[in-house]
Amino acid sequence: QTKENGGNSYTVFQQEMAEKQVLRFEIEHELQKAIETQAFDLYFQPKFHSFKRNITGAEVLLRWNHPERGFIPPNVFIPIAEESGLIVEIERSVIERVMACLADWDHAAESAIPRISINVSVSTFLQDDFSAFFCDRLQHYNISGCLLELEITERVVMQNETKINMILQQLRETGVRISIDDFGTGYSSLSYLDKLKVDILKIDQTFIQHIQHNQTIVAAIQSLADNLQLHTIAEGVETEEQLQKIRSLGCTEVQGYLFSKPLPQADFEASYIEQIPAGH
Ligand code: C2E
Ligand code: MG
Ligand code: MG
Ligand code: MG
Repeated sequence: QTKENGGNSYTVFQQEMAEKQVLRFEIEHELQKAIETQAFDLYFQPKFHSFKRNITGAEVLLRWNHPERGFIPPNVFIPIAEESGLIVEIERSVIERVMACLADWDHAAESAIPRISINVSVSTFLQDDFSAFFCDRLQHYNISGCLLELEITERVVMQNETKINMILQQLRETGVRISIDDFGTGYSSLSYLDKLKVDILKIDQTFIQHIQHNQTIVAAIQSLADNLQLHTIAEGVETEEQLQKIRSLGCTEVQGYLFSKPLPQADFEASYIEQIPAGH
């Protein structure tokens, strides 16, 4: 009896695994097509000053609306893109598209345009020619790196220190800012913060969600950042209570549904990029 059940559940398990494999394989194949047909949409989630409540920047987030499967969330397709190596091509195209937007906005906007941050995965960041690519594209679109920010994870800073330092150095010369995404959730030691030049810690939304229980942690992150002269931003702020709390802990920048969800490009432009009246 027991043996038989065990046998059955093993078969079911194997079948589920096989189905997952097939789905993975299919999605990988379709990702390739999606790259060719430019099927990804760019969404922009603004960031705000926690006291003044004005926009301070925006993060670009990819959306994939699949013709048959419907909406596939980034938490599903990004890991598949990373494992298959397709992520490099996808992210380089995101960088190009964002730079093209910035060049347009720079032309049309009357006032300063918000700094745009882009998520960059380990493999993209570690490509030998990544900083050369980034600099070359800045020149091509004739914009300053000051308009951009790259969000990397602790997985990046766990790599070869000399190599990372060199890449960071080259990038920083362009004026681009570097932030550590999902800060506090990785398995890296904190010593890199002292050795590698980064600008911003993005306090992960899991700490903000249960801020009442995590006050001590968030306060510690804030004081670490203050001591190292780093800036912080709180991710995933959904309520006024969370906003009050993180403000009281000294965090001056926030991102989250309380202020804005990620917006389709057209909506973001309509709300946050001031256009010069036609004819000028
Ligand atoms: P992330 O970079 O930490 O992005 C923040 C995620 O939190 C986004 O989910 C955003 O929509 C969500 N979020 C923002 N505010 C709130 C809030 O108040 N409450 C809640 N519950 N969620 C909030 P999204 O867009 O589904 O992206 C998930 C992850 O996928 C991102 O996490 C990022 O790691 C990855 N991702 C998305 N686009 C790209 C990309 O172009 N390249 C790479 N490498 N990763 C990407
Ligand atoms: Mg991010
Ligand atoms: Mg994040
Ligand atoms: Mg996150």
